[in-house]
Order: sequence, then C-alpha cells, then structure tokens
Amino acid sequence: MNDGKDKIALSGKSLEEISKFVKELGLPNYRAKQIHSWIYSKYADSFEQMSDLSKETRDLLNERATVGLLKLAHLEVSNDGTRKYLFQLPDGKMVESVLMSFDDRPSLSACVSSQVGCAVGCTFCATGFLGFKRNLCAQEIVDQVMSIQRESGKRISNIVYMGQGEPLLNTEEVIESIHRIRDSVGIGQRHITVSTSGIIPGIDQLAKEELQITLALSLHAPDSDTRDEIVPINKKFPVPELIESLERYYNKTGRRITIEYVLLAGVTDDPDQAVQLAELVRNLHCNINLIPYNPTRAKDGAVLYERPSMESQRRFKQLAESSGKTVTIRLERGTDINAACGQLHNSFIESGK
Ligand code: SF4
Repeated sequence: MNDGKDKIALSGKSLEEISKFVKELGLPNYRAKQIHSWIYSKYADSFEQMSDLSKETRDLLNERATVGLLKLAHLEVSNDGTRKYLFQLPDGKMVESVLMSFDDRPSLSACVSSQVGCAVGCTFCATGFLGFKRNLCAQEIVDQVMSIQRESGKRISNIVYMGQGEPLLNTEEVIESIHRIRDSVGIGQRHITVSTSGIIPGIDQLAKEELQITLALSLHAPDSDTRDEIVPINKKFPVPELIESLERYYNKTGRRITIEYVLLAGVTDDPDQAVQLAELVRNLHCNINLIPYNPTRAKDGAVLYERPSMESQRRFKQLAESSGKTVTIRLERGTDINAACGQLHNSFIESGK
C-alpha cells in the first residue's frame, strides 16, 4: 500500500513484503532485515534515523518510500492517562485507536480498529451509528499499533480488537494482522484479544486457525428477544447457536472465552437476566466481564440508555457468579474523552466520511 503520493509505506508490512520491495530497488536482501528492525524494534519514523544504511540507500528510500502509513490527525489525553488517537488512512478516511495504561500493572494495552464504521449497528454503540464504510487491510491494522508506539515511545504489551468495526466481518485481514503483530511487532498471541458481536462463520474460521488468542464474545443479553433488540446480528446468529460455536471454539483451541456483557439500566440489568446468564454459560469454559454502560449520543444527540446504579451492578455480579465463573466489572478508562467501550465514533470529525 502506498501513502497516496506513490510512495510505498513500510510500517505494518511483513518482513517478506519489505524484502520484496528492497529487491525491487536493487538493494541486497540484508537491507530488508535492517529496515524491518529499525521500524519494529527501534520505532524509527524516518529513514534518516537508520544510521547503518548508507546515505545513498537512505536517499533512494526517501525517494520511493515512507515509514508510516497512517497520519496522526488528532490526539486526546484523558485525566487517567488514556490516549485516544484519530488516524487518517491513505484514502482520507479516519479511524480511532486507544492506548490504555493501568495503575495496578505496568502493561500497556492498545485497542485497535478493524473497519471504518461498522455494519452491525448495536444500539448502544457510537460506531454503529456511523454505518459501514470499508474494511481495513492488515497493514492499516498493524500500523495503528506501530504509530502508537512511535508517538508514545512506549512498548505495547497487549492488543485488543475492540475499536471500530466487527473484526470477524474482516476475518482474513484480521488474521493476517495477528500474524504480523506476533512476527514483526513481537506481541505473542496470548496477549491478543479479538472481540466479536457473534459472527459464527468467523468464530469457526478462527477456531480452524488454532490461534492462541483470547476470543471475547459481546453477548450483552442472555435471551434472543433482548439480544435481537440491542445486537441486531443476533437475528442471523441467535444465542443458542452462538453458544454452540463457542463450545466448538474451546474444543479446538483449549482457550477460555471471555463473555462481555454491557449493563444497560432497565434493559439488560434485571436480576432474572443475571440468573439466565449464569445458566447459559454454566458449562462453557469462560469468564464474564460486566461493562457498565458508557453514555453515548445518537446522531440526533439523544442519550439512548442509562448506566445502572452501583447497587444494581453489584447485585447482577453476585447472581452471575452462581454460574461458578469468575465475574469482573470492567475498570473504566478514558470515559472523559469518549475512549471507552462503545464510544469510538470519530468524535473529532464530522461523521459520514
Ligand atoms: S459494538 Fe462493535 S459490532 Fe456493535 S456496532 Fe459497535 S463496533 Fe460494531
């Protein structure tokens, strides 16, 4: 992929792709390894920094290539240190990514987008309001991680595919990006989580690949009637079939699944629903992660749902624990800059790009 000015951007490419490019330039193959190392291990953002390349080689690279693919259009930093990035893609479209740090551990997590907009249309999600624009290619996904590392100067330890888009409606590119994140960026699959709204063919495809990533299912309701309302893809892939696909996934990979469940006051936080949830997942190898709703505005500015009280959150957690599973309430990051779950929607710019 080029940067829009007929130059080839190298960050986000695999070593094989960089080798092919280097060969086209008539350079020896060992140059590819040097360039790959400068980009992925030393976070170089220009060829000038690549001090073990000759001036002639650097000039040639400058003529024909760039390091970064994405352009940083805007950066917001939350009171809690969360950083939200707005990146411009080569075709001018925008995506958001988030860097999260935690007080109780040194690890840094990056939340990356896999599509521009999203077709699934979950009723509580700001990205769903944008509609679907296009899939990201593997290089665009990987360069979100590298752009964040270059900007922050910090090494990311965990990746979550929970930004804009449904990763399993872009499965091929997402899988390729996971391979590049392991091989080039150096983040192992056990530190990568792919979050899906429940696309059964995508779950089966991931299982077939036998990756060692964590699969997170955004369940959000234990019964199909409620789920049909808030996660419309449920009409195509209903709850019982979804649970069966998760069992297949576990049998194939041996990897415990994370069940994500958004708590919407008066919609998904009823004690009966907590009991139903416990029953539903009793025989599944999983953990449950409860996500108190982050207020999100629809296109007309209306706030559609409310966050349940702390009391209601605690009661729901207790009842869900009767499943025998570990149940956690997600720690909030970046809510003051709309970087929390369900809030990514290119708020810096006009939607409809
Ligand atoms: S929650 Fe995920 S799948 Fe649902 S609309 Fe938002 S981005 Fe798409």
